[in-house]
Amino acid sequence: MTDTPLKLFNSLTRATEVFEPVHEGEARVYSCGPTVYNYQHIGNMRAYVFADTLGRVLQWKGYKLTHVINITDVGHLTSDADEGEDKMERMAAKEGKSAWDIAKFYQEDFERDLARLNVQSKQHPRATEFVEEMIAWGEKIASEHCYELDSGLYFDVSTVADYGRLARAVTEDGEGRIDTVEGKRNAADFAIWRKTPAGETRQMEWDSPWGKGAPGWHLECSVMGEKLLGFPFDIHTGGIDHREIHHPNEIAQNQAFCGCGGLDDATHSGAKIWMHNNFLVERSGKMSKSSGEFLRLQLLIDKGYHPLAYRMMCLQAHYRSELEFSWEGLGAALTRLKRIVMAGERLKDAPAGDPSHQKFAPIRAKFAEAISDDLNTAVALVALEEALAVKKVDASIKRAVIEEMDAVLGLDLFGLTRTDLRIRPKDARITEAEIEAELIRRKEARMAKDFATSDAIRESLGEKGVEVMDGDPLGWEWKL
Ligand code: AMP
Ligand code: ZN
Repeated sequence: MTDTPLKLFNSLTRATEVFEPVHEGEARVYSCGPTVYNYQHIGNMRAYVFADTLGRVLQWKGYKLTHVINITDVGHLTSDADEGEDKMERMAAKEGKSAWDIAKFYQEDFERDLARLNVQSKQHPRATEFVEEMIAWGEKIASEHCYELDSGLYFDVSTVADYGRLARAVTEDGEGRIDTVEGKRNAADFAIWRKTPAGETRQMEWDSPWGKGAPGWHLECSVMGEKLLGFPFDIHTGGIDHREIHHPNEIAQNQAFCGCGGLDDATHSGAKIWMHNNFLVERSGKMSKSSGEFLRLQLLIDKGYHPLAYRMMCLQAHYRSELEFSWEGLGAALTRLKRIVMAGERLKDAPAGDPSHQKFAPIRAKFAEAISDDLNTAVALVALEEALAVKKVDASIKRAVIEEMDAVLGLDLFGLTRTDLRIRPKDARITEAEIEAELIRRKEARMAKDFATSDAIRESLGEKGVEVMDGDPLGWEWKL
């Protein structure tokens, strides 16, 4: 089933290409990670569910995977153009903490969310661990590609061929540029190093040939990608917003560093393939980190949704499509996950088997084709459900088929139980034990044909937010 060639959409060429590894038998992937100045919203987490699914597909194809997700703990300004303050420093000032403490706290929270979503990557290098290498990189490219202003060392984008190709920028300035820094040669030029203004001290600053200061955000990813994966590596991922500024700038730095020519040869960009997930959108603005109760994974859990229901929701859409968030949609994804987990319950104890049984051949082929077609997880999920529905087949074979598919989808189908999926909302006014006790009382009343009591119990449970589900097709007796 892994013979189908893996085709991936390369944003750099805007074409679907067959994946050919740089190193025989290996796949090296770099994903732009979070800026740890705040909690991540679930839109950010979509980027890592996508990158993780990609990694799982590469493993399923037999490649030894290295997947780096960096942690930006310095350098990311409040605007992607070179203006504003450092996000970390600003949050530190606001919360009266050190930038280092802020970074540690939010990195840990991020990693907790990654684990909850079954993201496998454990390699999360921090930008501040690579400042020395960043300075060395700057020194290497400075004379040919950079110029110094009072505010820092800037990269002159006219010194590399095909600047902005990834963004398909229509003007020489690139898209969305604001020429705010006086003295820039081109509006799209960006800081490699930002000097600490005279008379000021930043919490995060280092000495450099260009004075005390901090590295630019784009430089981090170039340096960590090269140091950890080597140029060219296989795949670079990020959200679609990065296609416009951050990644074109990374690419320009990479071309300068390796002394490469234009981008007709994609490997000159530092990676062979650049992939971007589209956004998770939400109409009422709850995704914004500046809105009070913004959409974090923890909020979903507090409201009684298992985090893997969110992974399911992501997988139901193609990663290159916009996905609109709604609580109804999340509820539907949770129900679907519950159905699958329950359908798989009987298989849990089956002994290990071989998935290659002719009865499953067409379904496994459908799964393989879908997933190999630029990660069509929506169709792959249908194939998984079809596999679960196959009748009159040995449980160990079916189990092996489902396990093989789940390794790609990452839903932990045999680890989850129906109890896991029944999360108590934070504001629930009744405990599970109390509900169970009331339901026993109600059963007894009904046996005694005391329908008045039975109805009263149902009603009083309803007032506490518990829906009694008589005759539920999934066999659930109640839900909060
Ligand atoms: P940031 O911390 O801003 O660098 O964002 C972390 C990752 O989340 C990046 O890959 C972004 O492109 C991605 N991202 C940001 N907002 C969304 C969204 N609404 N939906 C999907 N991905 C997003
Ligand atoms: Zn990056």
